[in-house]
Amino acid sequence: FMIGRELNPRIGSFDIKYFVELRPGLIGWTIINIAMAIKQYHELGYVTIGMFLIVIFQGWYCFDAVYNEPAVLTTMDITTDGFGWMLSFGNLTWVAFLYALQARYLALHPVHLSQFQIVSIICLQAVGYSIFRGANNEKNFFRNNPEDPKIKHLKFITTETGSRLIISGWWGRARHINYLGDWIISWAWCLLCGFDDVLPYFYVIYFAVLLIHREFRDEEKCKNKYKKDWDRYCEIVKWRIIP
Ligand code: NDP
Repeated sequence: FMIGRELNPRIGSFDIKYFVELRPGLIGWTIINIAMAIKQYHELGYVTIGMFLIVIFQGWYCFDAVYNEPAVLTTMDITTDGFGWMLSFGNLTWVAFLYALQARYLALHPVHLSQFQIVSIICLQAVGYSIFRGANNEKNFFRNNPEDPKIKHLKFITTETGSRLIISGWWGRARHINYLGDWIISWAWCLLCGFDDVLPYFYVIYFAVLLIHREFRDEEKCKNKYKKDWDRYCEIVKWRIIP
């Protein structure tokens, strides 16, 4: 029920899971964020810099994901998990409504940040985004076309299944370093809400649990799939998530 049975349910050529994966949740999330900024404007007569940044940061995250939509084709959601309750409820409801928590918090509790705090948070977002997008693109380009000049320099090992595993670049620094980038981004979003309340920090805590659990699941899947080749890979790339 949770993970689902059907891997890629389709109606004709319409792939339900691929469609649901990003578009409804991410577009819904962006719309709710904008609505929260308008709500703040109605209350205060202006939009705070924190609210402005959360709409831009998260709007960028959503735009970037939808713009790079084919990159999800090499992720666990598409290749491994069925279309069960986790992906249907998660993508259609949980993402749109719960991920808008920071904007909702700021609409009701405006926070005034110092210039130093604003610059630090923008830097954190930039660092997180470079790791997140850099790692995800590296794998996606590599899996689509290993001859692509952008990733041709990467070292890899060839496994008995025929699949290749990258052992340099982002993926050579730590296994699932893409999760680290995503988690750093989540800190930048929560810090925009200041330190008066723990509620907006729900996201960093929940996301850490989600990513660690996901890393364990993927580790198990890869170990079963690649067997001794995975052990060889782990000997070369020793760290998990954090280098
Ligand atoms: P990943 O993109 O991390 O893909 C994992 C798969 O990549 C493995 O199963 C394996 O598949 C392949 N792989 C692993 N190591 C290597 C390597 N060294 N070289 C080449 N291929 C490798 O999957 P996820 O779906 O977990 O994450 C995708 C992104 O989505 C992440 O950035 C994550 O942070 C984000 N995410 C965000 C969520 C949110 O709620 N905001 C929720 C979940 C994820 P194979 O069998 O093909 O080898």
